[in-house]
Amino acid sequence: MSTRKPIIAGNWKMFKTISEAKQFVEAVKGEAEVDGVESVICAPYTTLPALVEAVQGTSIAIGAQNVHFEDNGAYTGEISGLMLKEIGVKYVIIGHSERRAYFAETDEIVNKKMHAAFKHNLLPIVCVGEKLEERDAGQTKDVCKTQTVGALAGLTAAQVAETVIAYEPIWAIGTGKSSTAADAQDVIGYIRSIVAELYDQTTADAVRIQYGGSVKPETVVEYMGQTDIDGALVGGASLEPASYIALVRGA
Ligand code: PGA
Repeated sequence: MSTRKPIIAGNWKMFKTISEAKQFVEAVKGEAEVDGVESVICAPYTTLPALVEAVQGTSIAIGAQNVHFEDNGAYTGEISGLMLKEIGVKYVIIGHSERRAYFAETDEIVNKKMHAAFKHNLLPIVCVGEKLEERDAGQTKDVCKTQTVGALAGLTAAQVAETVIAYEPIWAIGTGKSSTAADAQDVIGYIRSIVAELYDQTTADAVRIQYGGSVKPETVVEYMGQTDIDGALVGGASLEPASYIALVRGA
């Protein structure tokens, strides 16, 4: 029997101003809080201090969507783990496919960011997933293996046990197309077996693995019914309070 706590994480991407973020928390407080489910909002940097304050006294956690791997330096426009920790965020998304695609993040950079997150006691939600052409070529599992091995390199078993992995097939992100629950389970079960190979079964049993890619309140239950799926990373459907509440309640 798994003791993993399901985790629903909203990925707001580049949406919401500070005032919109505060209004959102007012609307979901108490509602998007369910015993036994972790509820996380990953928001733009500018909104993070206000969000951390707004969720005080609730069980909702706040996460960033990116982090630089150095603490300080001549990296114009970047934000470090040291800075995020000071704000008080708990989670950080690392290696989202949009960052890999538009900001040239490699597995090596993703790995450095994983280490930076743990250095500052931030919990990573690390994204892996295949492109459509890779899926069509039957390479889904190979791609997920390479990205998982790359992301986790050099981490201790204790760190991996605290990591959240989000399996997000790229063709399913923001497209309205999603992996069937059975297909997602197949890949996620495989990713868990990779963690067991790299570490041990105890670590593999502890790591939480989410599905992401056009998850909706109507579909979240189906994913949650799968043995290895521990939650969802949700973009579009996390932006409206009613829909976010339904996602958390559905988990
Ligand atoms: P989506 O995005 O739910 O809008 O498909 C998921 C994500 O990019 O994390």
